[in-house]
Amino acid sequence: MKGLYALAACLAVIITSDAAENNAMNALAERYVKLVLALGQHDADYVDAYYGPQEWRKQADTDKRTLADIDREAASTLTALAAARPGASADEAVRLRHEYLTKQLGALRARVSMLEGRKLTFDEESRALYDAVAPTHSESEFDAALKELETKLPGQGTLTERFDTFRSQFVIPKDRLDATFKAAIEGCRSRTREHISLPPGESFTVEYVTNKSWSGYNWYQGHYRSIIQVNTDLPIYADRAIDLACHEGYPGHHVYNVLLEKILVRDRGWVEFSVYPLHSPQSLIAEGSANYGIDVAFPKPERLQFERTVIFPTAGLDAAAVENYYAVLSLVDRLSYAGNEAARRYLNGQIDAAAAARWLERYGLYSPPRAQQRVRFIDQYRSYVINYNLGKDMVARYVESQSGGGTDAARRWDVFTRLLSSPRLPSGLTR
Ligand SMILES: [Zn+2]
Repeated sequence: MKGLYALAACLAVIITSDAAENNAMNALAERYVKLVLALGQHDADYVDAYYGPQEWRKQADTDKRTLADIDREAASTLTALAAARPGASADEAVRLRHEYLTKQLGALRARVSMLEGRKLTFDEESRALYDAVAPTHSESEFDAALKELETKLPGQGTLTERFDTFRSQFVIPKDRLDATFKAAIEGCRSRTREHISLPPGESFTVEYVTNKSWSGYNWYQGHYRSIIQVNTDLPIYADRAIDLACHEGYPGHHVYNVLLEKILVRDRGWVEFSVYPLHSPQSLIAEGSANYGIDVAFPKPERLQFERTVIFPTAGLDAAAVENYYAVLSLVDRLSYAGNEAARRYLNGQIDAAAAARWLERYGLYSPPRAQQRVRFIDQYRSYVINYNLGKDMVARYVESQSGGGTDAARRWDVFTRLLSSPRLPSGLTR
């Protein structure tokens, strides 16, 4: 009996010290949330979502803290965090939480310094804000894909013009856009729900908007709800239906936010996940998982089948053209990193906006209006561009290495879902 009492006493000590550590971390997490809200007063895009206590937002509105004050408190919070580092034997989620707060606060300080006028190179900025650096590519590295496209798309004019003409056959007519998008959402949703259990009541609404630098946006509202906006400034192609429905909805941003709210905010009481600062390492996980999630929900053969039998007929397009359309698109996809090069050279001051647009046209096959829209995006979001393609590649490598090569669909979903429910950040994907 004596031994048992001793064991019980020992357990009580462990539980008490765990609770004390959790309380200490919660206090630091609250400081982090308030700092993010304070910085949102200086940067309109910064607070992408917030559904924590409303009085904290009101306090940020009335206090309007200076950048210097925000930076000072972020530095002291980081010092306190360093002193509260959990031991190596701590639960993995607890260790990731600590690392998350540390990196997110480091990125917040970098954003403050940028707003104070500090100039960073493209790579310095992406490392400071998004915890990753995109590889550099020369023009010649895009030549092989461009050459193959030359043979696939013969005819008059530049390759960019021929691709634009080819693609114009696959524009979703405006009067069929909503029906096509709804069909895509249903396809993404049903596939996601087979593998991820989502809380009751989760849902989103879709709005069609204009005059934006992006093509789609998820505005997470909390309480398991999102507003998804689709930009109709430029024609929307058939492939964008599933891409947008998966990326913004299932299993992309909507699901990521719902799982963070359910598992980290509500179940664990980790308030830091009730705010999402756009310029932070979390964005690489958000965009990377939203893009990789398209392939998780729709592996290539299933994607082609769904396009042939659902999307193309709903959009009133010729389903016999699906195979060839996707063969061309997969070649164009190999040019994706050309967009990072244009952004890197432009933001480093090596080329101007017009030259960046020309680069996007030449090496990324953007039509002129799309290239201009993209340059506006780069002006607004800067090195954020790496979160889409590098983010996708990093998430893909992580999920596939953790699930034994990615051939077992159930294991792939399982690893992917755990990533969406955890505080893991980009540098934590490569360990
Ligand atoms: Zn996104």
